[in-house]
Amino acid sequence: MERKQFQLGDIVQMKKNHPCGSNEMEIIRMGMDIRIKCVGCKHSVLIPRAKFEKNMKKVLRSAASETDASSSE
Ligand SMILES: [Zn+2]
Repeated sequence: MERKQFQLGDIVQMKKNHPCGSNEMEIIRMGMDIRIKCVGCKHSVLIPRAKFEKNMKKVLRSAASETDASSSE
């Protein structure tokens, strides 16, 4: 099974919506635990990496891919 790819600054979609109704979360800290911030209400939560990977549905916007379109070598 493919491992989920994510990095600092990514906007991700979780399987469960946040109580505020938004399901978009921004990754604001990476480590053994991951801190994500709700885009809707700006509330942040710290969750273990394993749990994050399990609950994360997909990456909506990658912080890295935003510059891909304009980069030319
Ligand atoms: Zn929220």
